[in-house]
Amino acid sequence: MISVGAQGGWLTRGAGNDTIYEEQSVVGVNSIYCLQKIKQIMAMAAAVAMVMGLGADEVRSLDLSGDRMQSTVSEIVMGLEETLQLNADEQLHWITSEPSVLTVGNDGMVHAVGCGKADVIAESTHCRKIWHTTVKASPESVSFSRQNITMGAGESVIIQMVLPDDTAACDKQFSVSDSHVVEIIPSGDSVRLTAKREGTAIVSVQLYNGVSTSCRIEVRSAPETVQLREKSMTVGVGEKVSLNAILPDNTASDQILFVTDNSSVIHMTKTDGTGEFTALRQGKAQITVCLYNGVKASCQVTVMAAPMNVELSQTDIQMKIGNQTQIEAILPEQTAARQRNFRSSDEKVIRIRQQDKKATIQAVGAGTAYVTVKLYNGIEKSCQVTVWDGPIIEVRNGVTYMDGVLIVNKTYPLPRTYGKGLDKTAKAAFQKMKSDAEKAGIHLYIVSGFRSYDVQAALYQSYCAERGQKAADRFSARPGHSEHQSGLAMDINSVYDSFADTAEAKWLKNNCHRYGFIIRYPKGKESVTGYKYESWHIRYVGKELAEKLNQRQITLEEYFGIDSVYKDSDN
Ligand SMILES: [Zn+2]
Repeated sequence: MISVGAQGGWLTRGAGNDTIYEEQSVVGVNSIYCLQKIKQIMAMAAAVAMVMGLGADEVRSLDLSGDRMQSTVSEIVMGLEETLQLNADEQLHWITSEPSVLTVGNDGMVHAVGCGKADVIAESTHCRKIWHTTVKASPESVSFSRQNITMGAGESVIIQMVLPDDTAACDKQFSVSDSHVVEIIPSGDSVRLTAKREGTAIVSVQLYNGVSTSCRIEVRSAPETVQLREKSMTVGVGEKVSLNAILPDNTASDQILFVTDNSSVIHMTKTDGTGEFTALRQGKAQITVCLYNGVKASCQVTVMAAPMNVELSQTDIQMKIGNQTQIEAILPEQTAARQRNFRSSDEKVIRIRQQDKKATIQAVGAGTAYVTVKLYNGIEKSCQVTVWDGPIIEVRNGVTYMDGVLIVNKTYPLPRTYGKGLDKTAKAAFQKMKSDAEKAGIHLYIVSGFRSYDVQAALYQSYCAERGQKAADRFSARPGHSEHQSGLAMDINSVYDSFADTAEAKWLKNNCHRYGFIIRYPKGKESVTGYKYESWHIRYVGKELAEKLNQRQITLEEYFGIDSVYKDSDN
């Protein structure tokens, strides 16, 4: 229950023949007018209020000069069942115009008993007070315009109490759980919150009927700095961008305001909390973010033409499961697009991880998919990505490469014209191995290095004539299938089984991987490699792969998951 009334007596003023309006604060009450003939004056006051655009909450006094009989008019909006003490400082006679809406006791206590409109009139011999009263439904709920606020020390925020439509409550009490943290100053349906020091506080409002709500306030330190993620940025015409203000840890500012110095270049579409703008035309503009305490930061924005096309930095990508590669969008010169969205057509094949303007493609499953970049203005470009389960197999000029490693065995042949001697890298690696072996008293030399297609053809023919084709296929390659034609294979010291028991063979087996070589046809792997054990035949594959194969004790066929079988036989 609250008290309403003109405590200081009637609002009176006699000053010549003119009509005078004066603003005056009266707690909790609305408009007050004084004059002699109530009905006339009410009509005049309404007309005047309309002309002046006065709101219902504004307080006026209106005196007509020369009249001793004075009157005041107030407006009240109450909720059903609400009780209100209308104060008066002298003996008054109380009347209600509508007892079904409002009742009034002879002490000036009114009670809203029905929805509708009623006048409460208090009369004495020389003056009269009128309260135009509207009774609305009793609110079943109340809310604040905000439920959670995080603010900085010293900051002020105004929140509004909101009632359901067509309800009212004249009597409401605002309170705060800790006034050392937040100070409140209620004013009508709103309350001004001022953060006093770090901590949390609950601001509540309770209506006459017990209905209440609250808002949680967290007060942090006042920010001494503010940052934008970028100090400058380039965007395309028509592009929409959001900006976030970054405050130091454990500080806050409820008010975060974004402004631009050139609204013909960029148009701010959101200026509060998070900044959002649209680039209107080519040019430069500065955006400044400002906090409640005056702390600021700026970002220079350059607006360039919108791109009419886009390219990708890679085309026709081949990948192996588990591998990843980077891709970028390439724009025409003098254009810009900050927003580039990369997407995968099939997440089971490739996944995209985007970091700013670049994207990383991750191969997760075998198959074909597309990576597409789409710019803010709808321009897009796609690129096909093939993901292999196992090695990436490429055939260049009839030569098969797996993950870049040349493969020649019974399944994968070399063309007749391929090969012009020992590979230089392989030869240098052998020289290094040979000289290191010398220091250990091991003498290594090449008894057979590069063999051309035609030389191999003659050799194979002679073996077939001598031992029969089936036997020959176990130790000699058919022309085009010999690793010696690749220039990457060498027979060391001997081509006889007895070599396996020599110190040289043992040293080779234990050390050749350090130089990038493997024993190509190891013991017990004939069904895999297609050849019986050859302790002398080494193959250069590079240090990295040689180390891997040695560590796992597997062959090239096992590593790449391939076979070594002639098409026309079971050997
Ligand atoms: Zn050999």
